[in-house]
Formats: sequence, structure tokens, C-alpha cells
Amino acid sequence: MLVQPESALILVADDDPFIRHMLTRYLEHEGYQVVEAANGEAALDLYFCYLPDLVLLDALMPVVDGFEVCRRLQTIAESSLAPILMITGLEDEKSVDQAFEIGVVDYVTKPIHWAVLRQRVRRLILQHRLEIELREANRQLQQLTLMDSLTQVPNRRRFDEYILQEWGRAVREHLPLALIICDLDHFKPYNDHYGHQAGDRCLQQVAQTLNQCINRSADLLARYGGEEFAVILPNTTLEGATQISDRLVRQVRALALPHATSPSAATVTLSCGVASMLPMANHLPSDLVLIADQALYQAKAQGRNQSKAIYIVPPTAEHPCGVRH
Ligand code: GH3
Ligand code: MG
Ligand code: MG
Repeated sequence: MLVQPESALILVADDDPFIRHMLTRYLEHEGYQVVEAANGEAALDLYFCYLPDLVLLDALMPVVDGFEVCRRLQTIAESSLAPILMITGLEDEKSVDQAFEIGVVDYVTKPIHWAVLRQRVRRLILQHRLEIELREANRQLQQLTLMDSLTQVPNRRRFDEYILQEWGRAVREHLPLALIICDLDHFKPYNDHYGHQAGDRCLQQVAQTLNQCINRSADLLARYGGEEFAVILPNTTLEGATQISDRLVRQVRALALPHATSPSAATVTLSCGVASMLPMANHLPSDLVLIADQALYQAKAQGRNQSKAIYIVPPTAEHPCGVRH
């Protein structure tokens, strides 16, 4: 990868107007864009205004020196911070040590050796860009491992991760957590009759439709298994979750995908089981899954193409488990 200098922006911070001017002239001549700061405070302001690809920072400046600028940038910008190249006096060994200790990536000495400066600037910008690309590629890879490739909705792995995360939040904040488990009705005969590829297309259409039915940013639809989907609804009561669940059933029915071999309807239909509970420390997310599964079983047993909910009430002598159908 080559650095196109004209696409790189360098922030030059030096209190000496002569050196600042020389640096700017030289870097502009090399093809870089440059913004200048006459002191540490201006450097901090300009950094967040321009988000440069490299910072050329004088170590010794009045009021806020280069070391302090570096420290403050690191606490605010963290991992995305541009590389910092510090300018120190030739004899100033202490500054060099201090600079590396606080995370400056390289230094040049005064008087400036221009060829050295040119190489260091080019190398640091290139390195920083490669790091950004690598981080982005890793992020996309991570994203891929959490998506279902067929339906393009989050997969079971993401479901497991998210339900744990939201369970923890619900325990801490004493908020209800709801779960809907959905299962396509008589999907085996659908595959047998229309073929596996048509089955796959059906799953894609259903996933898209289900996704359109949930609208809060914290809600998560995932492919739970073969022809099963699950919806995690943080801070949602059973009433709220039932409304959504009814909508899921209705919208799949409204797709009107023909199902010639279904024993219960002429089109593809969905059954849902709903549960919502106020998670407590002595319960597990698997308790919520188990109850939603039981509700799904009821929806299937009572004719499919519908949703069923199970109420979970605080344990009493009459209901020691706290569950009421
Ligand atoms: P029920 O109404 O009781 O849920 O009946 P069902 O036929 O839907 O349930 P069953 O568990 O017997 O069959 C599920 C079928 O879903 C089995 C398989 O043919 C189909 N299936 C599971 N995953 C996929 C997939 O990725 N693609 C396709 N095309 N079919 C799948
Ligand atoms: Mg199933
Ligand atoms: Mg099924």
C-alpha cells in the first residue's frame, strides 16, 4: 500500500513560529495537508476538529507541553489515536525516554534532519492506515461469525450472547425480560413437497418479515435453529411481548406463501411461545427459554398459526414455581 500524501493530514504543534513554518512548508512540499497549532491547547482542539493522520508534537511548549497533550489525547481518543511523532532537543535524553513511556510512537530531534523526518512521517502514516484497515476487517469478521448466512439475521451464537447480556442488565436494573420463540408450522412437508431450495427461500422471506415486526433498537431477532426464530425483548412485559408475537403470526400469514401439503392451513403459518419474567439472581436465562418453549408447545397443540403466552407470577403456596398457564 502506498501513501498518497495529498490524502493525509498532519497536525503540527510547535510554539516556535519559525520551526512551525519550516515544518509546514516542508510537509506541504511533500504533498501533505497541514494544520498548525501554536500551543498544546490549540493542538488538542485541532486534533478533534480535523482528526489528523499524524501529529507532529513539540515536546517543550509553555502551559500545556507535548507530554501533557499526548496524555490527554490518549485518554480521550484511545485505540483510534493517530500516531504521535515527537520533536525533542538533540541532547534531551530524558524527554526521549518520557516520550516513549507515554506512548509516543517515534521522535525526531532538533535541528531537524529532513530526510529522516520524511521517512518517519511516511512510515507512521502507512502503519496507522494498515492498523485501521486491519481493525475494520476484524470487526467485519466478528460480525460475520454472529450472522446466519442464509437469512442474514443474527445467529444462535449471537442469541446466546445477547440473552446473557440482557439477563444481567435486567437483574441489575429490576426490569422484565421477554422472549418469543417462533416455529414454522409443518415445515417438513413444505420441504418435502417444494424442495429444499424453496424451503430456504421461504425461511429468508419469513426472517425478513419477522425483522420488520420489531422496532426497538434493543430488540433482537435471531435464527434459533432450523425453522425456528427467537426474539429477545428487553424491558418488555408479557402484554407487550404478546402484542409483538401476535403481529409476527399475523404478518407471516399475510405473506400468503402457498403450502399445499400443510395439514392445518393452505399457506405457510407460524406458531409462537411467549414468556416474560423479572429475572432474579437465582434464575437462569434457560428458565425463560424453557417457559417460552412450553408456551410454543401449547400453541402447536391448540392448532398452530397462533401465539400462546405463559404468565410467570411470584411464587406462592398455590404456584410454588411461580408459573401460571
Ligand atoms: P411443526 O409444525 O410441528 O413444527 O412441524 P415441522 O414439520 O415444522 O417440524 P419438524 O421439526 O418435524 O421439521 C422441521 C423441518 O424444517 C425439518 C427440515 O426439513 C426443515 N428445515 C430445518 N432447517 C432448514 C433449512 O435450513 N432449510 C430448509 N429448507 N429446511 C429446513
Ligand atoms: Mg422446529
Ligand atoms: Mg416447525
